[in-house]
Amino acid sequence: MKQGRLFVISGPSGAGKGTICKALIESGAADLSVSMTTRKPRGIEQEGIHYYFVSHEDFQKAIDEGNMLEWAEIYGNRYGTPKKPVLEKLARGHDVILEIEMQGAMQVKESYPKSVLIFVLPPSISELRKRLIARGTETPEQIDLRTRTTLDEIKRIKDYSYFIVNDDLSSAVEDARIIMSAEHLRVEDQAEEIINRYESEVE
Ligand code: 5GP
Repeated sequence: MKQGRLFVISGPSGAGKGTICKALIESGAADLSVSMTTRKPRGIEQEGIHYYFVSHEDFQKAIDEGNMLEWAEIYGNRYGTPKKPVLEKLARGHDVILEIEMQGAMQVKESYPKSVLIFVLPPSISELRKRLIARGTETPEQIDLRTRTTLDEIKRIKDYSYFIVNDDLSSAVEDARIIMSAEHLRVEDQAEEIINRYESEVE
């Protein structure tokens, strides 16, 4: 059975990573990994769907026991990817998307060099501000902090393989699909299989 591919999607808060990932998951293009976090649920967020909401102690225990694929602390809260479900999905041949921030993305790149890192950009900083305000989940101070860190984040795009500008959602989702399809057409680890298939017809 062919292994699935691991896609990592990062980008500034409000750039629309979540919406793009949701569309990809709903269309069956990939499986989403549910992260663990120590932050409190917001609005309609549900346990096991948006996040696994855990205590600081339980998060630390998961790290100590080697159960996290990656983790990071952001604005005082910890976020991380439980390892087991991701590895199981990949082994079943499913592609998996991790929607995580950059510190975590770098850890994944290090431990899974075959993972594919995609950076989602907002059309502009002013549009990003507008979206954060419209989302209404952060205080004005948090929005200021997030927009100030955005440029620093964008400067680290060189660590990524692909970018998507999320101006129009459907074309952003289409771009993501194109990237995912292209990755499946990489020769690299499929060369032997391709050669064998054609060779078997000739012999
Ligand atoms: P939020 O609190 O808005 O849901 O998420 C804050 C940030 O944490 C976002 O940039 C989100 O992508 C990131 N994040 C969510 N889950 C994970 C995770 O499992 N690992 C890492 N490293 N970042 C995550």
